[in-house]
Amino acid sequence: MTTAPRTNPLSYLTDQLNDLKAKGTHFKLRVLADEQAPVCTFDGKKVINLASNNYLGLTTHPKLREAALAATRTYGVGSGAVRTIAGTMKIHMELEEKIARFKNVAACVVFQSGFAANAGTVSAILGQDDFIISDALNHASIIDGARLSKAKILVFEHKNISQADEKLARVKNEPGKKLLITDGVFSMDGDIAPLPALCDLAEKYGAIMMVDDAHASGVLGRHGCGTVDHFKMHGRVDIQVGTLSKAIGALGGYVCGPRELIDFLYHRARPFLFSTSHPPSVAATCIAAFEVLESEPERMESLWQNTRFWKKELALLGFDIGGRTTPASETPITPIIVGDGKLTMDFSRELFKEGVLGTGIAFPTVPEGKARIRTIMTATHTKEQLEQALEVLGKVGRRMAILPN
Ligand SMILES: *Cc1c(COP(=O)(O)O)cnc(C)c1O
Repeated sequence: MTTAPRTNPLSYLTDQLNDLKAKGTHFKLRVLADEQAPVCTFDGKKVINLASNNYLGLTTHPKLREAALAATRTYGVGSGAVRTIAGTMKIHMELEEKIARFKNVAACVVFQSGFAANAGTVSAILGQDDFIISDALNHASIIDGARLSKAKILVFEHKNISQADEKLARVKNEPGKKLLITDGVFSMDGDIAPLPALCDLAEKYGAIMMVDDAHASGVLGRHGCGTVDHFKMHGRVDIQVGTLSKAIGALGGYVCGPRELIDFLYHRARPFLFSTSHPPSVAATCIAAFEVLESEPERMESLWQNTRFWKKELALLGFDIGGRTTPASETPITPIIVGDGKLTMDFSRELFKEGVLGTGIAFPTVPEGKARIRTIMTATHTKEQLEQALEVLGKVGRRMAILPN
């Protein structure tokens, strides 16, 4: 039997990739050869790293490393099952108890990632008759969870409280549940959610209040316990999400709240039910990380000291670091607004050649005309590294006419 040559059913993907290449937005992954650290080697080049979420330098902390190794020696490398079948190890329970105490809440459930925590929770607790009132700049995992829930999604303009009020007012007589949801710190602009006003609104309309503190954990509040503590909103936020993948330095996400919420998620959150739990090494690493948050407060102090220095110096160089055309950053995430997408990507590439890793971010991740280099400060960058990075930013910025000459 002869068969006709098989045509490639995936050729449309090649076409779409070619479109990206034509637009200049196709990228290659930059590959890290050594540790995630302030100076490290990407694609064979030693660079000052302004792109990681390793806020407190915990990815390489000796106590975390040792905890991971010890757990591996004692418990092996994998959990072997999903949590509800046979994959709940004592160390998973210890981590959840540790986080609940740290956040001063009744209970906590850990997910495989922050993404899974958001998507799994929002989709589990709401259904098609319900309403989600969501900030326009909320993280993709909240958006995906909202879509999976089949609830009606009402998006309010970024941090616009009166618009959120209007949206809630519009559905207040509907029988469905209402969820008011926001990022604690917004990941592209580094600004902080107006949590007190949002809590007032949630109470006014009897809505569930949920905050995603991925970029606030380890950064804001006492010992880095997040925006609820930062604003003293204790007891007024029903659901707090956090990540173990950023400041905590390892991998995972968690949801904190009342015991019933956590018990419900044990029964209904799909990533919890259908995806294997963390290796014991990861759980042990995270337990050690929360201990370090409490025992080494100087890390957060250096993070904020570096952040203040970095923002001041970038502004002195003449960069637009937000506040004019975009929200002003209040956290270690500092965008350098360039505007044009292609110019931003070229800027990022030139910086890399000169030894600075700063990620270019353009449409559709940020609005058209608001492309930027997103920089993130950490506790472990030295003054010398920052001064060197500033020199490169200034030199390349002037050369490319992003800064006046
Ligand atoms: C990074 C991030 C997440 C996802 O966390 P992971 O642990 O990396 O999956 C969720 N929400 C926000 C706001 C984030 O910035």
